[in-house]
Amino acid sequence: MNDGVLCNDIHSKLNLTRVARILVPGSTGEVVALVRDAVATGWAVSICGARHAMGGQQFGEGTLLLDCSKLIGIGPVDRERGLVEIGAGVKWLELVEALHAQQPGAGPVWSIRQKQTGADGLTLGGSLAANAHGRGLQMRPMIDDVEAFTLVNSSGEILRCNRSQNAGLFRLAIGGYGCFGIITSICLRLAPRLKLQRLVEITTLDELMPKLDRRIGEGCLYGDFQFSIDENSPDFLHRGVLSSYRPVDSDHPMHDTRKELGKSEWERLIHLAHHDRARVFEEYSSYYLDTHGELYWSDSHQLSVYIDDYHCRLDHESCADVAASEMISELYVPRDRLVDFMSAAAKLLRGCGVPVIYGTVRLIRRDPESFLAWAREDFACVIFNLHTEHNEAGITRSAAAFLALIDEALVLGGSFFLTYHRWARRAQIEQAYPQFAEFLRLKEIHDPGRLFQSEWWRHHRNLFAET
Ligand SMILES: Cc1cc2nc3c(=O)[nH]c(=O)nc-3n(C[C@H](O)[C@H](O)[C@H](O)COP(=O)(O)OP(=O)(O)OC[C@H]3O[C@@H](n4cnc5c(N)ncnc54)[C@H](O)[C@@H]3O)c2cc1C
Repeated sequence: MNDGVLCNDIHSKLNLTRVARILVPGSTGEVVALVRDAVATGWAVSICGARHAMGGQQFGEGTLLLDCSKLIGIGPVDRERGLVEIGAGVKWLELVEALHAQQPGAGPVWSIRQKQTGADGLTLGGSLAANAHGRGLQMRPMIDDVEAFTLVNSSGEILRCNRSQNAGLFRLAIGGYGCFGIITSICLRLAPRLKLQRLVEITTLDELMPKLDRRIGEGCLYGDFQFSIDENSPDFLHRGVLSSYRPVDSDHPMHDTRKELGKSEWERLIHLAHHDRARVFEEYSSYYLDTHGELYWSDSHQLSVYIDDYHCRLDHESCADVAASEMISELYVPRDRLVDFMSAAAKLLRGCGVPVIYGTVRLIRRDPESFLAWAREDFACVIFNLHTEHNEAGITRSAAAFLALIDEALVLGGSFFLTYHRWARRAQIEQAYPQFAEFLRLKEIHDPGRLFQSEWWRHHRNLFAET
């Protein structure tokens, strides 16, 4: 008897799912053959990239799991138009390295505009399916960086999707969490790689938006505010490190001696974030202040260290009775309501007994294109990583905290990201995403045989069953 294969997501490890089999196609042609075979034999298919989503979007119990990680071709850079065609299984670091290797000579190097922070091992396909974003100060979500993509639909047809061809699917599949088919290849819009100077200051939340506006006015392209996580301090969610990145002339010399945090320093900071949250902020901010004025490349400064299984080591070192991990959530609020949101969040998080391990504020510009757009307007984005013990009480505590944070964001006209969990109540989803029922209806139209199924889709189909 075939018992299937147990899968889990990489970061939270809270999505244990048994799939029937894992299939790893290496080309669009192989994807087509697998889809046609699944249709003929009556299997449902789930789709994964690098397995970092935390709401069960990439796995379906009892499905064939189509793992896209071997769709890894990278075409030549079109230096006239700043475009490159890449396989959906390519990860960000591989892409940046390949772009550099292709353009060794003089002249501008075309490279990525934005990627997620905090992890590099995410695939381009997974990033599109979540319509991800980075720390650009004036950027829209990733849909804005996509010229076109190739999708294998539920009939096994190969469709090229862009803003004029299969435009409906273009809008649905970006941010559509794998519900509409398998993206096999993406034509990504690039930008000339720039030298940037990092500007660092310690500031407080009430000054943040005016300061960010000023930095944008001065030409800064990227930035974020990493706030204090010490719940016993008046600085909690209030004082933080504002880093912004301003372009400088290309002839500015880059120093090889730039101070970078290595793996062991990150491990120490993660340890402190769990055991001494006052000290971690002091150490972290002093590292950042030390790098004020340093130069970085616009692409590689977005890369980051991610330590696989760091929480297993932490649990082991602290002889924890219960395994744990960080659950992430991202809340969006109108920028002029950020201070109100953060003071409500501080009150709520101080009272709920769930430690914040890391948090940051970034900016996003409105996304007028994707169907399930999370950036309904120019929002401030607030990311919380909450320490979550893997037992019923721990998961209930984190879920309750995130639900309460969603309520606070919604009251202020905000929203939340769908990629990190599937805890939100139906009313919360409907308020943040009034088009959600229509999204589910369009999925049925494009995939009438329900070929593409995940735990995330099944959950929402049930949640919205009576519509
Ligand atoms: C530590 C960490 C940091 C993060 N930081 C950010 C951030 O800064 N900004 C941000 O926006 N997000 C961030 N995320 C969320 C992340 O961008 C998404 O969860 C993303 O979808 C993960 O990509 P993946 O390759 O791991 O995809 P998976 O988790 O494997 O899959 C995610 C979704 O994509 C679909 N999918 C994957 N490949 C394909 C394909 N080829 N065709 C169709 N559908 C596909 C899956 O079906 C699933 O619905 C972060 C997540 C973690 C864990």
